[in-house]
Formats: sequence, structure tokens, C-alpha cells
Amino acid sequence: CGIFAYLNYLTPKSRQEVLDLLVTGLKRLEYRGYDSTGVAIDSPDNKNIVMVKRTGKVKVLEDAIQEHFSGGEYSEPVLTHIGIAHTRWATHGVPCERNSHPQRSDDTNGFVVVHNGIITNYNDVKTFLAKRGYEFESDTDTEVFAKLVHHLWKTHPTYSFRELVEQAIQQLEGAFAVAVKSKYFPGECVASRRSSPLLVGIKTKTRLATDHIPILYGKDDKKQSSEQEIRPHGQTRELPVIPRSDSTSEFMPMEEKEV
Ligand code: GLU
Repeated sequence: CGIFAYLNYLTPKSRQEVLDLLVTGLKRLEYRGYDSTGVAIDSPDNKNIVMVKRTGKVKVLEDAIQEHFSGGEYSEPVLTHIGIAHTRWATHGVPCERNSHPQRSDDTNGFVVVHNGIITNYNDVKTFLAKRGYEFESDTDTEVFAKLVHHLWKTHPTYSFRELVEQAIQQLEGAFAVAVKSKYFPGECVASRRSSPLLVGIKTKTRLATDHIPILYGKDDKKQSSEQEIRPHGQTRELPVIPRSDSTSEFMPMEEKEV
């Protein structure tokens, strides 16, 4: 159970190089234990997200990646590319490809998510989304997060990628770390954590690169009263407080919540 994301911003890299880095990242996380694996990158025309998922060892995924991405189009260098990767240790749903991560928002892969941990109120969120027409293809708690971000994207067209993830997370309970990628926000990756560790490594020291990466951290993992954004170069600022639904009431995000 581990998440790994790679973003190259200033140095062009091919999709194959990004995939190599993702596999290396997953190998470093293997010691934590896992039952299945998966990766997501952009398609060669940058219009879609391509995922490969496997049960079993990272080596099995590595072989599948080599087979899947062997075409010359995957060796073209691109300037900004985000790949996300996962080793899963199943908590909700048996180990199988369908339950492996990345989990997705819809069959066009609009938003894809890798998630470490547990979303404890996933059933309430699932019911809420099912009432709004979402059909679920996995047994995971993670899928509700991908679909909740999609629902927010549809209902709040002005939200940035970071705001979408932030708002979704405000509705969720549990302990987790996530990394999210979207075909609607190419070149961006949003990562967040609550009560789970998340490490960010930045190679360049330029302001330009660090400003490009929105990263959200819970200031106090247990307290819901405030969230704080910590920028990679050390500046911090308070984010607006958005109350989360309490665990005993029916799940009702934001403007649909009865006051
Ligand atoms: N709860 C998620 C699942 O069962 C993530 C498990 C993990 O941390 O790997 O899919």
C-alpha cells in the first residue's frame, strides 16, 4: 500500500522514461506489502489517460508496461508529464484488476486516483453519488473519491483542480493519502493527506517549478476546523474553513447540506 507520482516540468521526458520512474518508485514501496499494482499516464495525443493495472508483483506490472507502451509514440519527449502509480493492499474489495488503482471517475478516465488508506464514510458518499446517476465498477472505497471529484467538477465549473480535490476531501472521513490526475487539467497533479504520511521531493529550486505544484496537507489531522497549505518552498497560508458533514448525519456535500 503506497502511492507514487512523478511530474517532470522543466526537463522533457518520454512517457517510457516516466513509466520507468514510476516502476522504480513502486519498487521502493514494495517493502510495505501489497497485492496489486497500477499506473496512469497521458495518451500520446494527450487527450486521454491510459492505465495499466495488474494483480501480483510490481515485476508483473513492469512486464505489462513494456508490452503496452512499446510503440515509438511513447518514446517522444514531452515537457510536462504527470504519472501516478500505486501498490494496493486491499481493505475494501478483493485483490483483482477491477479493484486495483488508479480508480476512475467515469469510463472516459476524466479523473484518476491512487489512494493509500481508508475512507470510512465511503458508503454514505456512494449512496449520495448513486442517487445522482453514478454507477460503480469496483468494490473499493477509493472509487467514491474519484466520482465525488467528478461530481464537483460537473456542478462547479469554475473550480480549479486543487479546489475540486480540496472540496472532495472535506467531505471524506478516515485516514488516507491520495494523488489525483485529470485529463481536464493536463500538466497538474494534486496530492493530499490526512493522518497518513506523504513525502514530496523537488529536484529544482526554481520558484517557477514549485509554484506549479498544488499540494494540500491537513494542518491538524484530527481537527476539521482548518486546513493549511504548505508550499514546497516553505511559505504557508491558511485555507478557508469549509465544514465537513459529521459522521452521524446523512452525507450531503456543501450547498446541498441542510442548515
Ligand atoms: N482502501 C483502498 C482499497 O482497498 C486502498 C488500500 C491501500 O491502502 O492500498 O482499495
